[in-house]
Amino acid sequence: MVNGLIMNIGVLAIQGDFAEHLAMLKGFGVQTAEVRLPNHLAGLDGLIIPGGESTTIGKLAVDFGLLEPLREFGKTYAIWGTCAGAIFLSKDARRSQPLLGLMDISVERNAFGRQVESFEAELEIPELSGGAPYPAVFIRAPIIEAVSGEARILSTLPDGRIVAARQEKLLATSFHPELTQDTRFHEYFLSLAK
Ligand code: GLN
Repeated sequence: MVNGLIMNIGVLAIQGDFAEHLAMLKGFGVQTAEVRLPNHLAGLDGLIIPGGESTTIGKLAVDFGLLEPLREFGKTYAIWGTCAGAIFLSKDARRSQPLLGLMDISVERNAFGRQVESFEAELEIPELSGGAPYPAVFIRAPIIEAVSGEARILSTLPDGRIVAARQEKLLATSFHPELTQDTRFHEYFLSLAK
């Protein structure tokens, strides 16, 4: 229940760390659903696409007939992609792989190289409540190279590289809020889905 509304939030559960998102959502008392097939999208107020491997998520989404239903869903409802999910939401990942193409962002996969594949950073994200720095976990993360059209930047690393973007009800983060104790990013998404 968020501000008196019962919400129903789905998590794409075909690959990646969907269980961690579901656990965090349950902490808010919202109804949750694991989405594996097109009919699982019915009745949802929003959808999270987790981190994992964007090529695998894309391939399985094609196999399960989810590509067009997800594109339709994203025209009306909130979708948030974390890490691989952000790549899948993008219009351009600089290589051929199935993408939803819903967000006017281009991404560079594995942008932090092979040696330093995981790290944490404290991010300034002005739109999150409280104003305190946000502890962001990056795991073989992409960067958002550019935003265009209706998309806008929500957060950058201190060196200016873009790691979070929003386009109306669509959100993309390079990092993994489901792997922290800080619930503000999930709260922010629920406010968009409402
Ligand atoms: N490197 C993965 C990809 O390119 C994303 C990693 C993640 O989701 N943690 O899809």
